[in-house]
Amino acid sequence: MANPLYDALLGRHAHSRAPFIRSPDGESVSYADFIGLVARYAAALGELGLAPGDRLALQAQKSAAALAVYAACVQAGVVFLPLNTAYTAGELDYFVDNSGAALLVCDEAQRAALTPVADAHGAKLHTLNGDGSGTLSTLAQSRDATFETVDREADDLVALLYTSGTTGRSKGAMLTQANLLSNARVLAEAWRFSADDVLLHALPIFHTHGLFVATNVTLLAGSAMIFLPRFDVDEVMARLGDATVMMGVPTFYTRLLADSRFDRETASGIRLFVSGSAPLLAETHVRFEHRTGHRILERYGMTETNMIASNPFDGERRAGTVGFALPGVEVTVRDLESGRDVDPGEVGAILVRGPNVFPGYWNMPERRREDFTDDGFFVTGDLGVFDADGYLQIVGRSKDLVISGGFNVYPKEVEQVLDEQDAVAESAVIGVSHPDFGEGVVGVLVAQAGRVIDVDRVEASVAGRLAAFKRPKKYIVVDELPRNTMGKVQKNLLRERYRALFDNGTSQAPVR
Ligand code: AMP
Repeated sequence: MANPLYDALLGRHAHSRAPFIRSPDGESVSYADFIGLVARYAAALGELGLAPGDRLALQAQKSAAALAVYAACVQAGVVFLPLNTAYTAGELDYFVDNSGAALLVCDEAQRAALTPVADAHGAKLHTLNGDGSGTLSTLAQSRDATFETVDREADDLVALLYTSGTTGRSKGAMLTQANLLSNARVLAEAWRFSADDVLLHALPIFHTHGLFVATNVTLLAGSAMIFLPRFDVDEVMARLGDATVMMGVPTFYTRLLADSRFDRETASGIRLFVSGSAPLLAETHVRFEHRTGHRILERYGMTETNMIASNPFDGERRAGTVGFALPGVEVTVRDLESGRDVDPGEVGAILVRGPNVFPGYWNMPERRREDFTDDGFFVTGDLGVFDADGYLQIVGRSKDLVISGGFNVYPKEVEQVLDEQDAVAESAVIGVSHPDFGEGVVGVLVAQAGRVIDVDRVEASVAGRLAAFKRPKKYIVVDELPRNTMGKVQKNLLRERYRALFDNGTSQAPVR
């Protein structure tokens, strides 16, 4: 027996003095040192009574130590549950309760607020601070740097990642050894990762993107990463010259483009820019290429499935699309009512099947029938369309689909037209309750810096481009769109904000 994920990501680098993590202060942690640290944490978990299969919930600042706790869980067979640093004690209460976590690890500053949470659910509480200090690290430092890796099977759980839960309560996606390892292998190969690579890592590590995509691929290839606590334009620009790959959410790229210092020279050492977790505007893709000469490689995935599709490394990276299904991953676009896989050009539900796809949500076996089709595909909740060349385009979340007067309106199609309008930086299209149409289309617009949007002109131009039922019945100009930490526009908040927009013609916002 063995522990396939640990062996592939860490075990085989045990004697490597090559750098793994470079911190902003210039300190570097080699593979061998990191693996020693991981063993100490794994031993500390054993000392605290955690057995394989137990859950460890961690809400901590991004640091090499926090990452070592993740790796220690892999080595010890403990299920790792990373939590967004923005979550409140009330939210943590739900996660600890739902997961039955045996240990809650948090920053010292949170100890007072979280002790009652841990106590209420019989969990132990230890601390880990951004500088690597804390009661858990003290315990780890007192242990030896060797630990006998716990054997694991392909189906054993490695992590529980709670979905961001923009509707209803958040659900714990169970991720197995096989899910994570298969995806790391496929991505490292698809994006040509090697031991010569240095990844600029400015993503959070409580989400699948920064934790699994970025970190697992780096570990698998034996590459190094520059570990920045967060995305800061100045810091990122200062470090780009030391990196060969950057992974980011679209906001990273729009922020870089908004800075006039960012140019071909700043990006010249990078061989690959990857974007995902939210839609990258086609316009951003084009502007980025004009500015730097690089075509961003856009990919698509989700917590439950790991990465699903990617634009090609070689070959055309098509703006506004997420490319093709990754090797070993099956993607189909289906009409869920008829059960028919639709033709290229037709919109349908995006379904996915493969070794990357999770087995289900924690403690919710009854959901399997809703979330998976009879032939074993996971229903992603995204709507998409294949173009004639097989590139997949995401049209939006199915719950964001607007049905106005009985017609389906795909927000993305309308947003693309709005984004092209003069002085419009970006847009979000939502549907809200409408007395005649069931739902009325609303266009929420953000102006380019220093410009003013002429809504009459936008309306006239849209009239020439879109059928009447797709056109926004009202436009709202806002300073910025509400986004979560991964850069996703929170349409649920917009729908809530403009819920009563069409009631008796009254509204709470600057509307026309
Ligand atoms: P998460 O589980 O937080 O990673 O969110 C997954 C969701 O993010 C997917 O179901 C998509 O709706 C969205 N998403 C991820 N990548 C992309 C992309 N490249 N373009 C558009 N939406 C994306």
